Amino acid sequence: VSQMRGFSALVQTKALVNGNWIDSCSRQTFEVKNPANGEVIGLVPDMTVEDAQRAINAAKEAFESKEWRSLTAKDRSNMLKKWHQLIEQNAQEIAEIMTAESGKPINESRGEVVYGNAFVEWFAEEARRIYGEIVPSGQPNREVIVMKQPIGVAALITPWNFPLAMITRKAGAALAAGCTVVVKPSEDTPLTALAVAKLAEQAGIPKGVINVVTTKKAAPIGELFCKSPDVRGISFTGSTQVGKLLFRNSADGIKRVCLELGGNAPFIVFNSANVEKAVDGAMASKFRNCGQTCVSANRFFVQEGIYDKFVSQLKQRVEALKIGDGKSVDVQIGPLINKMQYDKVSGFVEDARDKKANIIVGGKGLQELGSLFYAPTIVTDVPTSAHIYTEEVFGPVVSIIKFKDEAEAVQKANDTQRGLAGYFYSENLQQVFRVAKRLEVGMVGVNEGIISAPEAPFGGVKESGVGREGSRHGIDDYVDIKYICMGNL
Ligand code: ADP
Repeated sequence: VSQMRGFSALVQTKALVNGNWIDSCSRQTFEVKNPANGEVIGLVPDMTVEDAQRAINAAKEAFESKEWRSLTAKDRSNMLKKWHQLIEQNAQEIAEIMTAESGKPINESRGEVVYGNAFVEWFAEEARRIYGEIVPSGQPNREVIVMKQPIGVAALITPWNFPLAMITRKAGAALAAGCTVVVKPSEDTPLTALAVAKLAEQAGIPKGVINVVTTKKAAPIGELFCKSPDVRGISFTGSTQVGKLLFRNSADGIKRVCLELGGNAPFIVFNSANVEKAVDGAMASKFRNCGQTCVSANRFFVQEGIYDKFVSQLKQRVEALKIGDGKSVDVQIGPLINKMQYDKVSGFVEDARDKKANIIVGGKGLQELGSLFYAPTIVTDVPTSAHIYTEEVFGPVVSIIKFKDEAEAVQKANDTQRGLAGYFYSENLQQVFRVAKRLEVGMVGVNEGIISAPEAPFGGVKESGVGREGSRHGIDDYVDIKYICMGNL
């Protein structure tokens, strides 16, 4: 029974397997809570390994069924377009569900619906451009034909920080390629996932093509996805630790793996930077979703010549941030997602304090607003031994380090095993090219703090992951290349 008040028919409290909205075979459920006030907003099925196996079977059957196989690329494109349209029509409701279960400020939730839905549109367009090749043969009487075929069933494991976009970015590509999917959304944000699945159903996407398994049993179900020979690919967005585990578990089955893991993004402000623009970019990159994004700037390196100016302007902006329940339109900073994240963020700041860093704004919880609110914080003189320097904070904490020259900034920026995004501000053209090439990351923002877009390849290097999502490259993880040798012609 739905306990979510004031929401529409889009709130689903059953999981989706083979076109049926069902309970777990164990009948167990778990609570979905609003992080702004702890209120229970829904109960969803706590699916078991057995349930997940059924979802895999359904996806396999759907993949092999005539209904899905006989579709043309244009048919699949049209279904995705219809799905895109329905998400657009229901944008406000989806945003409200998202804010209720994730704490994300409502304006950002609306933004995520637009952003996430743009992947559905993009892959609707790409579905028709998955071209093969005919390559000139080196031998007479032969043709070398190359075609791309869907890999089969893909398991998609997604996080809570982008409850919609991380699903559409994967599922859009998978469906465009002709795959079928089993989605395991985060246990913190299953309602957004179920709402978009409901709209996929309304868009006429056949039964079994998209299955959604809501569960708190992430580890055994993740293991099943990795070990099942019927799952041909795993796409995961989440922590590096879980990504490594999935990579390891997928080795035996030589499975296609796409991993979008944590970052430790540098944000470098050079003397030549336009300080106003750099401060704008810093605010956008750091405080979106309360700092809980994998591309959030994590370490700010600011050159001596403009250090004081940058820090004082940033401080003013941080002090002016409006914090509260994300359902108010003027709120810019909501709560952290759960107690674990809260403890991690506050623990990291305490560690920096102990190591003699300077906390110039914030540095404390805001219990008067709720137990998961943490004050936007700026820490300067951060020693390289501090956790806020070496680890991804995933919270509203700016760590600032002063540097002397470009070589030092680049060396420090690259001094991490992570390599997802990196940002820098400079008005010096030569420097822009030099630094952009030398940063060891998958994505660079030059004079820009927000860089994700459906047209652009998203992904990391080093331990930040493998594979790219979005862009035309986003299809690659869901297709196999097949070479057909036409001989004796
Ligand atoms: P985050 O810090 O974003 O919560 P997680 O990696 O813990 O990162 O979570 C991302 C997704 O991975 C969620 O859907 C979560 O349920 C899932 N997950 C967590 N542990 C495992 C695991 N051992 N195997 C598979 N999936 C997991």
